[in-house]
Amino acid sequence: MKVVDCFKERPVISFEIFPPRPNASEKSIERFYDNLDVLASLKPAYISVTYGAGGSDNKSGTLDLCRYIKQHYGIEVVPHIPGINFTTSAVKSYLDELKASNIENVLALRGDLPEDGQIKGDFQYASDLVTEIKRDGDFNVLGACYPDVHPEAKDSVDDIKNLKCKVDAGVSQLITQLFFENEHYYQFLERCELADIDVPVQAGIMSVVNERQIKRMATMNGVGLPQKFLRMMNHYQDNPVAMRDAGTAYAIDQIVDLLSEGVDGVHLYTMDNPVVTKRICGAIETLI
Ligand code: FAD
Repeated sequence: MKVVDCFKERPVISFEIFPPRPNASEKSIERFYDNLDVLASLKPAYISVTYGAGGSDNKSGTLDLCRYIKQHYGIEVVPHIPGINFTTSAVKSYLDELKASNIENVLALRGDLPEDGQIKGDFQYASDLVTEIKRDGDFNVLGACYPDVHPEAKDSVDDIKNLKCKVDAGVSQLITQLFFENEHYYQFLERCELADIDVPVQAGIMSVVNERQIKRMATMNGVGLPQKFLRMMNHYQDNPVAMRDAGTAYAIDQIVDLLSEGVDGVHLYTMDNPVVTKRICGAIETLI
């Protein structure tokens, strides 16, 4: 099934997960699959599985996990494909593997640049990869977008023009980078409308559990941290349980506002955390 069809009934709630690292211990793999059981029981519309986020190259980890989720839980999957890790022929054979596993959706990305800034693969921008994927078959292609503007973009106008090219290349739905200020998302939707970008835009929401991690991610990805959010992090930084609870409350507050505004959908960056994800899903259950 192509997950774009989920938007016939909005809002669409979906999850992102990370596959276990290739060198993960048996114990942590076991824990991962226990957590996955909980995440799957929350019945997301689909689960997207990262690839190479944070620098590791783990193609088979992503693919194996996608196959497992589809077969074991019957939930649709969206493997991420970061173009900078792929040559054209490697993409072709990867897509063949996906087809053989009856996987019809992919999230086409450029990928996080390595520290030396050198792109090893054949795709400089995600739109180049989208064109290649659409040439190769009948995939439903998702793309990423940035309410706080992508950090490498000249400005918000340039970023939206580039996004329009990506959508025109064949992207049928978008997922935003995480954001903590809903107004930025609403302003972004207005820019999309002005640019004639007319595909569903799911809001990417992450619940903060770790102050250092979120500050690093925000700096790396140019994500704005509002005063209200900074106050919360500063206040609870020495109390991990309180930080988790405050972060969850903040995420729920964001989602309630988004749902009230009629958002197309919410993509939860679960960080493989079943406790927080279950709480969020429980809190919004009657609002969907
Ligand atoms: P692009 O759409 O190519 O944009 C990158 C930059 O180039 C932007 O500044 C854009 O404005 C500019 N640009 C685009 N086209 C042109 C053009 N033709 N000319 C000039 N400039 C142009 N990374 C991973 O490695 N693995 C993952 O699994 C992963 N999952 C992610 C999931 C989501 C939902 C999101 C939002 C991000 C994810 N990332 C992942 C991170 C992503 O790879 C980075 O944000 C990356 O820096 C940009 O990827 P993109 O696909 O948006 O790139």
